[in-house]
Order: sequence, then C-alpha cells, then structure tokens
Amino acid sequence: MIQQILILQGDITQLEVDAIVNAANSSLLGGGGVDGAIHRAAGRESLEECRQLKGCETGEAKITKGYNLPAKWVIHTVGPVWEGGNYGEDELLASCYRHSLTLAEEYQIKTIAFPAISTGVYRFPMERASKIAITEVNKFLHNHNSLKQIIFVCFNQSAYDSYQRVMQEITES
Ligand code: ADP
Repeated sequence: MIQQILILQGDITQLEVDAIVNAANSSLLGGGGVDGAIHRAAGRESLEECRQLKGCETGEAKITKGYNLPAKWVIHTVGPVWEGGNYGEDELLASCYRHSLTLAEEYQIKTIAFPAISTGVYRFPMERASKIAITEVNKFLHNHNSLKQIIFVCFNQSAYDSYQRVMQEITES
C-alpha cells in the first residue's frame, strides 16, 4: 500500500486508527483541550497508566493503550509553549513529531492521527505549526516505510485551511 497523508476536520477521539497522538502536558496527568477530550473518551484506566509513566519532557513522547477509544494506542507528546519563537519552539515541535513517529514505528502502527500540537493553550501559531508538522511527516515517510496512513486532524475550519494551504505550498515547491 502506498503511504498516504490526509487532512481531516473533526474530533480525533472518534477516529478508528491504530494510534492517535495526544498534545499532553509534561505531567501526563490530563488537562484541557485535546488532552481532556482524549482522557474523557479513553476512560480512567488511561489516566492510571499515564500516572505510572512519571511525566514526559517537552519534545518527547510516550505510549499508552487506547482503552475505550476506537484507537488501539495513544501516543502522548508534550509540545512547547510558544514564547515568541526564539526559545527553540520550532525544533521542540519538530521533535514531538519525530519522536511520535519513531514510537509508532516501534509498535508497528500503520495508521496514526495527529492533532495540531501546541496550537491551542500553548499558543503556537497555526500556519507555522502546520508547516513543521507536514515537513517532519514528509521527512519521516521518505526514510521509513512502515507507516501507511498519517492523518492531520483539524478541530476547526481555520486549522483545516492552514494545513491545506501549507500542504499545497510544500507539494508545489
Ligand atoms: P496544546 O496545549 O498543545 O496547545 P490544546 O489541546 O490546547 O493543546 O490544542 C491543540 C490543538 O488541538 C488545537 O488546535 C485545538 O483546537 C485542537 N483540539 C482540541 N480538541 C480536539 C479534538 N477533540 N480533536 C482534535 N483536535 C482538537
């Protein structure tokens, strides 16, 4: 099967994929936004497994089971808080994608869905974040062939438009 990148608008917790990625915070003990939605949908066992992981550094990723989610796995990654762009935010965000994809490969995950990490409460600008997301996924797919489908899940229309625009720019360049 050919590798495929899709951009969808919707709720990541509903997707029947091998893994969904959570934009977690470093405690891994739950929070608002997509993190809250994932833990609500996965159930309390998910939070218990997270508690045993003893947190996660910014730019790193850890994996738990999906429990009540349609997805089999949840990959928790901690995005950087946007501080204006001069504090290594771009590289840390790229590192989230790389570590999540590497973990996915280790677990023989074929289909994975990403939210727009750091673009909510952590305030990373959407256009810049989507460019990093698409670039890192493209690079990874170029060098690895285990993953078959990568989905970027956009929670609203403006995120969706941004991903579409950036994808087109990158494809045309
Ligand atoms: P962060 O703290 O990394 O910024 P947030 O959860 O606040 O994380 O936001 C990350 C992105 O996830 C935002 O673009 C937000 O709109 C989006 N988001 C929130 N809930 C969901 C959901 N259920 N499915 C997909 N994306 C979501």
